[in-house]
This record gives sequence, structure tokens and C-alpha cells, in this order.
Amino acid sequence: MRMIALMATLLLFLPLSAQHQHVHGHTHERPIHFPDTDRYRTIVSDFHMHSVFSDGSVWPDIRVQEALKDSVDAIALTEHLEYQPHREDLPHPDRNRAHNLAERYARPYDLMVIRGAEITRNMPPGHANAIFIQDANKLRVEDAMGAFEEANLQGGFTFWNHPNWYAQVKDGVARLTDFHRELIDRKLLHGIEVVNDLTISEEALRIALDHDLTIMGTSDVHGLVDWQYEIAEGGHRPVTLVLASARSPEAIKEALFAGRTVAWFENTLVGKRENLLPLVKASLQVEGAAYIGPSAVIEISIHNDSDAEYLLDNVSGYSLQSDLGLIRLHPNATTTFSVMTGEQIPEFELRFRVLNAIIAPGTRLELTLPINVR
Ligand SMILES: [Zn+2]
Ligand SMILES: [Zn+2]
Repeated sequence: MRMIALMATLLLFLPLSAQHQHVHGHTHERPIHFPDTDRYRTIVSDFHMHSVFSDGSVWPDIRVQEALKDSVDAIALTEHLEYQPHREDLPHPDRNRAHNLAERYARPYDLMVIRGAEITRNMPPGHANAIFIQDANKLRVEDAMGAFEEANLQGGFTFWNHPNWYAQVKDGVARLTDFHRELIDRKLLHGIEVVNDLTISEEALRIALDHDLTIMGTSDVHGLVDWQYEIAEGGHRPVTLVLASARSPEAIKEALFAGRTVAWFENTLVGKRENLLPLVKASLQVEGAAYIGPSAVIEISIHNDSDAEYLLDNVSGYSLQSDLGLIRLHPNATTTFSVMTGEQIPEFELRFRVLNAIIAPGTRLELTLPINVR
């Protein structure tokens, strides 16, 4: 953090032209920003959060205001159905209440509030969210399987929450139980949190890929987003980027069932290759590619229209002159770097491993960028 402050101070004293030589743009704005892909709208969603209507610390209007500040497009208040620690102070018989209030607060704004609830059981099955349901109260049934059946009867999308939570699995390793296998076999469970709050789980990603569950990333925030994710210091809440055919609840629901998501956690994107590749491609645009005079050194400028600082491991076979194999494409900015191609070539390809784009445990996204010299 101290290093960053020093660099920021130095930048203030550099002439504008020097600042703009390698990077220009704005990097530390609060709204979460990713571009649409060539086929889909990129919807920023957070479908796991709490208010005082279960064990959270805030009234539902705060969740709405936080979402507006973060430019989140869609949220769900997912109160614990079976865990009501504020019941003495806030007696409320209706498990839809938090949603109904949030929905009302959000009405003047362009924010979608999706009805949801957290099925809160011991392991197995542990905790799961049901969103796009009709009536949370009807999910309060004796046996856990019955809660999933009811959520599905209501047309809901369900996902396994924090399968790596140490309070429910001591070693923090997400593992399927027979109960989860039955849920998956009966198509009663549709997604899994690979990212929850401050944690990410490789084993949950493995389960998602092996069983074709939708990859989810959520905040599960109980206190304030600003404090939990250090927004003032440049942090952001974890979200699920949903690749939807339109910016509507129906389209989001369709995309979730179809598995078109990418989780955004710290500076890491996690998703199935078919979703992550178009998102990364949409983020990056080659703005300039010109050889320096008659030399065989080419300067390439790439604009990164996203909040991710892409870390590119160069596997092109061409060396970089400005770095030793690693390129950082700064968020919401243009980065210029130089490549040695041996001789001037009118068009060629740069190939990268995107180190912060994960498509499977231990596997980074591979990206090819065609370069046309102009
Ligand atoms: Zn939970
Ligand atoms: Zn929760």
C-alpha cells in the first residue's frame, strides 16, 4: 500500500505527457465496470446478502444504497430462513419482508431486486440460496430436501453457499456429500459459490466444472460493504458477472440456469472458458501497433475497458522489450508496451496466458490477440 502511495505521489510531479506514455485512464472509481460481450449484456449481480431481518447489521435500504454506489445491477436479500438472532427485537412472521422493503426502496432506481432466501441447515446440505422464488415462507419445511423441492416448485434457482466454510467443513475443503449428489441428480441444485466474501475455493470450482453447476461469486455481506471490502482503499465486493441476453430479471434467470457467469474476486476472474474468453476479449482493444522507425521493435497500445488489471504472461515466442515476459494491462486505461519481432511483420499474433483469469483449478485462460500494423 505504501508503494502505491509513493507511485501516486511521483505521478503528480511528472509532466502530463510522461504520464500518458504508458498508461492513461482512470483506475480507482467505485462503480464496478465490465463491458458487454459480443453476444451478451454483462450484468453485475450480488445474490447473497443479509440485513437485520436475519443476522445482518443494517436495514434493507442500506443494501439498496450500497448496490447503487457500486453500480450493481441486481441484488437479492437472502435472509436465513431458520436463523433469526434478532427475533426478540424484531418479531416478524414474514420471511419475504426484507425483500419487499428492498424492492420498494429500489423502485425509483435502475436496480433489480430478486426475491431470495437462505436455506440454513447443518451439513449436509449446509447453506444454500434460493433466488427467483415466489414465497420464502413456503421454504420453511421440516426436512432440508423439502426446502429444495419447494424452491424448485416455485421456479427458483438454487446454489450451494460457502461449501468451503470452516465452520461446516473443518479443513476448508469443499466436498460433495451424498445429499448434494442427490440434489444434483434430481436437478434441484443449480449453482455453487466458488467465491464467498473473502474466500475462493478451487475445490468448489472443480465441483462446478465436474457437475455443470453455475459458478457464483457473492459478498454474503452482513455489515457494511465499505468496511468489509475496504472500498476507500480501492477494494470491491465479490460479484457474479451474468452474461444475459437482456438487462431484465427473466434474462438473468435464463443465463443463470444456462451457466453463463464469471465470478469477480479481488483481481481474479473465475469462469468457464466459454464465458470468460468473450468477457476478456470484450475488455481489450488494440488501439495502436506501429514499428519505431525502420526498427523491428513495435509499440503496441491496448485499451482495457474493465476493472480487472489483466496480468498477461507472454507465450507468443516474441520477446518484450519493456518487461520480462509479463504485461500488466491497467484497469480502465491504455497500456503501451514494445515487442521485438526480429523483422517488420505486417500482421502477427500475440499469445498470452491471462494469469488472473482462471478456467479450472491450476489452469489460466489462454488469449490470442491479432496485431495488424498500421
Ligand atoms: Zn450461509
Ligand atoms: Zn449468508
